[in-house]
Amino acid sequence: ESVIVAIDGPSGTGKSSTSKAVAAKLGLSYLDTGAQYRAITWWMISNGVDVSDAEAVANAAAKPVIVSGTDPARPTITVDGADAAGPIRTEEVTSKVSAVSAVPEVRALITELQRSIAKGAEQGIVVEGRDIGTTVLPDADLKIFLTASPEARAARRSGEVKGADVHATKEALIKRDAADSSRKTSPLAKADDAVEVDTTDLTLDQVIECVVTLVDE
Ligand code: C5P
Repeated sequence: ESVIVAIDGPSGTGKSSTSKAVAAKLGLSYLDTGAQYRAITWWMISNGVDVSDAEAVANAAAKPVIVSGTDPARPTITVDGADAAGPIRTEEVTSKVSAVSAVPEVRALITELQRSIAKGAEQGIVVEGRDIGTTVLPDADLKIFLTASPEARAARRSGEVKGADVHATKEALIKRDAADSSRKTSPLAKADDAVEVDTTDLTLDQVIECVVTLVDE
């Protein structure tokens, strides 16, 4: 039967790598919800919307058509038919995504999209994000909340970005987590029934193994 796994946590905890690998191992679909918030942010920037103006963002929120490909071996994201995989990872998008994703109209639309993708995944799905266990899929079969020390998270993130400075990465990451955790609408939070896994001293394989075991239980 179909199984729904929600994996939440701040950035740099290994959420994406873990979620993709678990989905591939178990034959499930995979959804990166952060990529959707990045995609809408990229659209706002590209279309001259001032992301610090919540009303302007709210008024434009329904305009972009965001499509996510859910094969864990090859996840894709397009905005109005254009491949957005590269542009959504720029520093500009990363620095502006928290402001856009804090707008309630944006969250309502993206949440609805996420629920319909999860519903359509016949074998089941691993959905990663910040509010999946608390808000998007509160009835998920398994909820995981990944954590790690700020140092470990910054080291992992700067390892992914070419030429990144670890100190600057850590500052930016802490700032983004604080914004994501303090917004009024569905902030970054651990669901009461989520299993918390501290990945600071674990290898990626150990985290994957741990989650797969929890799904099988
Ligand atoms: O996971 P990633 O770092 O790509 O997420 C980018 C941003 O998207 C987060 O910092 C957060 O502002 C937003 N986000 C969110 N809710 C989610 C997933 C991501 O608000 N479920």
